[in-house]
Amino acid sequence: MSHPSAPQRPSRTRRGGFRLGRIYSVASLVGLVLVTACVVYLYRSHALRQLLEHEERSNTVLTAAFGPAVWAEFRAFLGGPAGRTPQDLVGDPRLAALHDALAARMRGLPVVKVKFFDRDGLTVYSSDPRQVGEDKRGNDGVRRALSGEVVSQLTHRDRFDAFEGEISDRTLISSYVPVRIGGPDAPIEGVVEVYSDVTAMDAQSAAAQMKIAVTAMLLLGMLYLFLYLVVHKSERIILAQERERDEREAQSIHQALHDALTGLPNRACLSQQLGAELAQAAHDGRRSALMFVDLDRFKTVNDSLGHHAGDALLKAVCARIRAVLGQRDRLYRVGGDEFTVLLPDVADEAAAAAMARAILGALEPAVPLDGVALNVGASIGIALHPDDGRSAEQLLRCADAAMYVAKAAGRGTFAAYRAEMGERAERRLRVELAMRKALRCGEFVLHYQPRLDAHTRETVAFEALLRWNSPDDGIVAPGAFIDVLEESGLIGEVGEWVMRSACAQANTWTANAACAPCVSVNVGTQQFQSPGFVDLVVEILRDSGLPADRLELELTESQLMQDPARAQAVVGALRALGVRVSIDDFGTGYSSLSYLSFLAVDFIKVDRSIVAGVDGNARERAVLQAIVDVAAALDIRIVAEGVETASQARFFERLPGAEMQGFLFSKPLPPEAIGDWLRGTADGMTAAGRPGSGTGRPAPDAAQCASATDRVLTAS
Ligand code: C2E
Ligand code: MG
Ligand code: MG
Repeated sequence: MSHPSAPQRPSRTRRGGFRLGRIYSVASLVGLVLVTACVVYLYRSHALRQLLEHEERSNTVLTAAFGPAVWAEFRAFLGGPAGRTPQDLVGDPRLAALHDALAARMRGLPVVKVKFFDRDGLTVYSSDPRQVGEDKRGNDGVRRALSGEVVSQLTHRDRFDAFEGEISDRTLISSYVPVRIGGPDAPIEGVVEVYSDVTAMDAQSAAAQMKIAVTAMLLLGMLYLFLYLVVHKSERIILAQERERDEREAQSIHQALHDALTGLPNRACLSQQLGAELAQAAHDGRRSALMFVDLDRFKTVNDSLGHHAGDALLKAVCARIRAVLGQRDRLYRVGGDEFTVLLPDVADEAAAAAMARAILGALEPAVPLDGVALNVGASIGIALHPDDGRSAEQLLRCADAAMYVAKAAGRGTFAAYRAEMGERAERRLRVELAMRKALRCGEFVLHYQPRLDAHTRETVAFEALLRWNSPDDGIVAPGAFIDVLEESGLIGEVGEWVMRSACAQANTWTANAACAPCVSVNVGTQQFQSPGFVDLVVEILRDSGLPADRLELELTESQLMQDPARAQAVVGALRALGVRVSIDDFGTGYSSLSYLSFLAVDFIKVDRSIVAGVDGNARERAVLQAIVDVAAALDIRIVAEGVETASQARFFERLPGAEMQGFLFSKPLPPEAIGDWLRGTADGMTAAGRPGSGTGRPAPDAAQCASATDRVLTAS
């Protein structure tokens, strides 16, 4: 069976969101490279500028030393007439002399090349003879030097013709220096270009540059590593915190959607998922079934053996249901002892019914708990989608209504939803709301039906019968609401009120204390099963001051048979107090005469249907006679219920110790009529009830018997 898990909140790391470490690595590596590059670049450009300035100064000094002297010596050649061609210059014999003079002067100096330009920008001399005669008017250095500036530039040459022959791979600085003869203010006569070889200095600068780069890289790298460790550690802490928070969130989502005891998805989870599941099923053309499983006897276990046993039982039940469900079926715990099963793919109602049968079968064997074998059955309601309802709410209502029908049908069974169930469920809900209001607003009242000694016709007791004084319908009989009180659990509170009121009322019937009548109170099933029941009776007797022997409690066969051992103990405890106990509606339930032998009760109240056997056929009379005989044998007294005819009264009259109750004598009376009844003055009541009145008053016909109560009942 698949388990719907809580929607997982994806963690930040898994979502590939903000990663401190990664961002730091990339950003700081880029920064490291950029900073190093900047440092190296700045150093390099500074070093080159220094080199250039230095060489420019030394070239200027050098030129000042030899330039004017050479120019003066070879003025005629160097500053010769305008319009000379390269051939004129190359063919001039003074060129060779000039070359020799310069080579001699440059020997031992780092100068590798010298050029002279005349005022027209013509190359009149170059230590590289191929350049003699070149027109350099357009050359920026020549132009600016002719206007008085000293201009230098750094170049690198792979191959270069120097004074002393060809040289290669050199870094050179060339300076254009104006030539003035006769002082700094003399006119410029030409330009000298001096090339000095700075390869060695450049290499030194490059080596220093490399050292700086490596040092910067090392220092920044160490800083980077240190910070990386800090960031890495921080990131691990942040991730751990995020993971923890994600886990906490996922856990609280899981807790909100799951039941802590069984681990099953809960009602909130069901309402969150059911709509989507049904929509998906409809889309796929599947039929789904929703089952409401309500445990039948769970409350008894919880109340009598405690919550620990209740919890263990729930777990066992849940495991058993799971075991019969299929892979895709889902089980939810939607209340204390309520489960919901979703079958997402069923062929038809029969398939869902088969599953319900399987669940009931799985719950049938007793659950062994602490050496006690616990029986817990269930009632199951089935609703089909889309047949019974299209929305999740509709389907839930249908399954709920069907479950109530299954419960009413005697528990331990299942029912599939039928249209008419919906109306019944709605009515039931209306009644439950009305009951809560009745309890709040004091709309419950008690009527009392007299019980007479069959022989003397004296009133020996009154049965307290609950009525609801409805603001709309008047007096309503319990048949219309007692089941709802039981199912909703209200019976506990209402039952306590009944017992308290009846005991208080009985205390007022003391006109003739010697034969003050008893009061008998009907006990609800849940009331009887509650562990504090006997204590409550003790408390009520104490509070009301009613002697215990004037209280009688009416229990039904089914109440006693549910847990015979406990019933025996409770009955024993009640009788030990002096309280009388009777079995109500005898003959309509299990009617297992054998349990009468170990359940020592005071009376059996023979049901109206059995009493009617007096006027029935031979078989019915035989059943009645059998009950009478067993009761006599066990020394249990008989109360005939619903005595309506004189012949019925005559039958019981001759049984020793028998008592009678029925419309033949009186319908249930409101409390204010009891005084009159006891005084024997009430009109038409006493004639039949008094001793010596023969066969009693004629039996009222059914129409006469119908009280306001009955009218309301029939109407509803
Ligand atoms: P019950 O305890 O067997 O009460 C007797 C019922 O039979 C009463 O119906 C009474 O009005 C009716 N009855 C008495 N004599 C005759 C007769 O000669 N002919 C006919 N046709 N009916 C007769 P009621 O008052 O409607 O009560 C119905 C049932 O509701 C009671 O049956 C009892 O099981 C339950 N009940 C009434 N009051 C209480 C209560 O306070 N607590 C609990 N738990 N159940 C109550
Ligand atoms: Mg009764
Ligand atoms: Mg009865």
